[in-house]
Amino acid sequence: MVAEGGVDADTLGRATWTFLHTLAATHPEKPSETEKARITRFMKDFSEVYPCAPCAESFRDIMKRNPVEAHSGSAFSRWMCVAHNEVNRELGKDVFDCAKVADKWGICESCAAHEEELSDFKSAFAGFASSRKVKG
Ligand SMILES: Cc1cc2nc3c(=O)[nH]c(=O)nc-3n(C[C@H](O)[C@H](O)[C@H](O)COP(=O)(O)OP(=O)(O)OC[C@H]3O[C@@H](n4cnc5c(N)ncnc54)[C@H](O)[C@@H]3O)c2cc1C
Repeated sequence: MVAEGGVDADTLGRATWTFLHTLAATHPEKPSETEKARITRFMKDFSEVYPCAPCAESFRDIMKRNPVEAHSGSAFSRWMCVAHNEVNRELGKDVFDCAKVADKWGICESCAAHEEELSDFKSAFAGFASSRKVKG
């Protein structure tokens, strides 16, 4: 039973995966040391505060077995796909073909504040889409 105005674990999960895969799609292909450290720290903090306690606990175990790979955008997208597949396995769901992750998830075009920024995003994405045909 979900309280009025509340969410359940599935709704929260779907929304969160949309956020996480979009975050991964936006991670730079050549991140600076600061960007790598920041995203790695973010994932660790995320796994501490995700507001579904059993999910967060099991995701921390998944992250122990599969440390975050953030040395490139494609590596981080692949890592996110693999981590999501670990959750899928635990829930008895089908695993996703990580070679198709860039077909399913990309940047949020409407999130760019200005036309110029959108154009920068699109050029970055053109390289990103071809570089993220990853296996997993
Ligand atoms: C960190 C985390 C931990 C969770 N742990 C639990 C838990 O312990 N118990 C629980 O009941 N629920 C958990 N959930 C929720 C669960 O993962 C699902 O979100 C929920 O069950 C709804 O599933 P779904 O079938 O709608 O698709 P979701 O798993 O939510 O996926 C959304 C969409 O992403 C795509 N997708 C699927 N797999 C991948 C992949 N590997 N890579 C890229 N795209 C993919 C598919 O198109 C799918 O429709 C967790 C969610 C998160 C974010």
